[in-house]
Amino acid sequence: MYEGKIALVTGGASGIGAAAALRFAEEGAAVVVADMNRDGAEKIAGQIRDKGGRANAIAVDVSSEADNAAMVAAAVDGFGGLDAAFLNAGAYAQMPLEEHDGATFDKMVAINLKGAYLGVQVVLPALNRGGAAVVTASTSGVIGLSVAAAYSAAKHGVIGLVRSASQGFAARGLRINAICPGPVATAILGVTELPPIQPADALQTPDYGGMLLPQHIAEVALFLASPRSGGINGQAHIVDAGYLASYPPMP
Ligand code: NAD
Repeated sequence: MYEGKIALVTGGASGIGAAAALRFAEEGAAVVVADMNRDGAEKIAGQIRDKGGRANAIAVDVSSEADNAAMVAAAVDGFGGLDAAFLNAGAYAQMPLEEHDGATFDKMVAINLKGAYLGVQVVLPALNRGGAAVVTASTSGVIGLSVAAAYSAAKHGVIGLVRSASQGFAARGLRINAICPGPVATAILGVTELPPIQPADALQTPDYGGMLLPQHIAEVALFLASPRSGGINGQAHIVDAGYLASYPPMP
């Protein structure tokens, strides 16, 4: 699906981003693995190279304008262009609203919303025609999350950003979409062991209310960043195995 293409993945050292970087590479893409965790990004890029793929790792803080420019340059100068950008890095803070302090709020907005905003700004002019960007929001960007209000507010903002950017992208033959994952078994929720990548058609649907695997989200990201989803633009796609589909949700 990505033979001869170039993909950039932020948050690529861990969880959803790592699964996506490995799957982009399996599908033939050269991959820039960007993350503030340099060793983790190097590890994933090394796994791709060990399998005969092409990958570079770059240490970035997505809330930095200069680092966003550097990661796009790593794709354009390092591999010759950019076809797919998965802007996925994020951070989570859980506490009751009344205990939120300004620093926590600023951090949630800086990484989750400003990071996405800076990424979209720099990715847009760099994408090859027919390319696409995918941004990781959350089901917490669609409904409120009372235990994580700043995170939820930032993820609501990500969806507004994606919708706002979509028209400008479309005028140039480019697309942008958001993915809104439900609970996924990753480090952000305290799960540190990344499950092995399996063939896409071997993925099982989690029990209702159970956690998805990083690869469930990665597969949707690959689809949304590919020409196979050419008719889909500016939308927020819930990927939660049905958790938000009916009310009341199961406890
Ligand atoms: P994760 O902790 O495994 O991965 C997050 C990655 O982002 C880490 O590698 C981390 O080093 C990186 N990162 C954090 N801050 C960064 C920064 N400032 N600059 C660059 N990299 C940074 O968690 P994950 O679940 O794979 O998270 C990926 C995305 O999915 C996040 O945006 C998260 O908010 C979103 N998400 C996760 C869940 C879930 O249940 N796991 C649900 C909804 C949305």
